[in-house]
Amino acid sequence: MADAGNVFDVVILGGGSGGYACAFRAADLGMNVVLIEKGELGGTCLHRGCIPTKALLHAAEVADLAREGASFGVQTQFTGIDMAGVNSYKDGVVGGLYKGLQGVVKARKITFVAGEGVLSAPNQVTVNGEVYTGRNVVLATGSVPKSLPGLNIDGQRIISSDHALRLDRVPASVVVLGGGVIGCEFASVWKSFGADVTIIEALPHLVPLEDENNSKLLERAFRRRGIKFELGNRFSGVETVALASGETGVRVSTANGKTFDAELLLVAVGRGPVSANLGYEQAGVVVDRGYVKVNEYCQTSAPGVYAVGDLIPTLQLAHVGFAEGILVAEHIAGLDPRPIDYDGVPRVTYSHPEVASCGVTETVAKERYGADHVKTLNYNLAGNGKSKILKTQGEVKLVQIVGVPGEDDRVVGVHIVADRAGELVAEAQLIYNWDATPGDVAQFVHAHPTQGEALGEAHMALAGKPLHVHD
Ligand SMILES: Cc1cc2nc3c(=O)[nH]c(=O)nc-3n(C[C@H](O)[C@H](O)[C@H](O)COP(=O)(O)OP(=O)(O)OC[C@H]3O[C@@H](n4cnc5c(N)ncnc54)[C@H](O)[C@@H]3O)c2cc1C
Repeated sequence: MADAGNVFDVVILGGGSGGYACAFRAADLGMNVVLIEKGELGGTCLHRGCIPTKALLHAAEVADLAREGASFGVQTQFTGIDMAGVNSYKDGVVGGLYKGLQGVVKARKITFVAGEGVLSAPNQVTVNGEVYTGRNVVLATGSVPKSLPGLNIDGQRIISSDHALRLDRVPASVVVLGGGVIGCEFASVWKSFGADVTIIEALPHLVPLEDENNSKLLERAFRRRGIKFELGNRFSGVETVALASGETGVRVSTANGKTFDAELLLVAVGRGPVSANLGYEQAGVVVDRGYVKVNEYCQTSAPGVYAVGDLIPTLQLAHVGFAEGILVAEHIAGLDPRPIDYDGVPRVTYSHPEVASCGVTETVAKERYGADHVKTLNYNLAGNGKSKILKTQGEVKLVQIVGVPGEDDRVVGVHIVADRAGELVAEAQLIYNWDATPGDVAQFVHAHPTQGEALGEAHMALAGKPLHVHD
């Protein structure tokens, strides 16, 4: 029998982005909520993901600026990285946000339970022998770094992103296995910190989920920065070796017979859902290759049980977790929320330069609407004053559909590469999600000189009234 004091409107298992966003919205909607977390409130994003990596990337930007001061006429000198100082800055940012988040949980009167929970029945979670019963249960147990068969992450020479964020030194050399977002962000940081970096990626391009144009621009920029990469080449093995420096390191082999020696191997081949041994299947929740299966309202196959965030097979992004958590809280409250259009979720790789996009790639647009109905425009940032001032290069690429029966000639994809592109994607997201046509955007006046102007001018060009471009 459940203790009457442990009965809630919503029981949430996992206090990461998905779980806590659901808790906050549900509490705002008047529900009594329990949030159960075995580690630290805030989960991967706050402690091992978004926030600490972006702090490292900012430190990396400062290092680059210190090196390049003379090119702006400013006398600066780069004399090295003090990793203890970098970590203290990073941990300070995380610590401040962690404190704030704990304050929000208290302010919203959410019951926080520290401990590891299991789904003991469709409407019950058991933590340390205590049963929490809910009218609804939300599974939000997130994800952890994955590896490849036979590749043992030892935390010493072969590390995951979790270890990489706790390094107390700058490695002399690193092989990064995986050229996705996480791999490219660490490669970018370590290069700026002075390491020799090689990325190995099995697919033909870096950031392979992006529009190919974005991938190629990033590859060009990384090549210029001296970040090496092996594309379309599979990992085949790793062994411990003595490096030329006398230090112990790793020798990574690839399917085409090449080898790469380095002090460290970062395994960044993706993240797997946390769903094993948590009672999910026994409670009637269908799990497919570790991911909990859900419908467009994040409802699982078990009545009253929802799942959100990295645990379900949608984009593994913190803001997707937030959106799914909010959607679930509103669905439970009977507010009839709109399902999420996952194409309309902005995606950013915060490397130097940044890669940002919203909507679909040219390839997907052609598959979906037919090649004859897809028009693209590439706007080179060489013509953008603010980008020139910042000494950043790149492009804004627009993907538009034309003449599709029953559809406006709207922009279905915006793809950007440049330093600070991550900030530009906010406008791209409005353009996509409000079904804007190039003409709609072309009439908006953008401030000069801003990088945002590049978005405006790209739409002006696509609408047939270009400003700072010529053929
Ligand atoms: C290096 C790195 C960089 C990233 N950068 C970005 C970025 O810049 N932008 C972005 O949008 N996303 C980024 N992400 C992804 C983002 O962190 C995740 O998408 C997000 O954290 C997922 O949220 P979640 O709530 O689903 O899972 P998580 O944040 O993993 O939270 C799940 C929580 O559940 C808890 N838990 C698990 N099992 C139990 C149990 N049995 N009982 C109790 N508690 C349990 C865990 O301790 C954890 O705190 C990054 C990820 C990594 C690894």
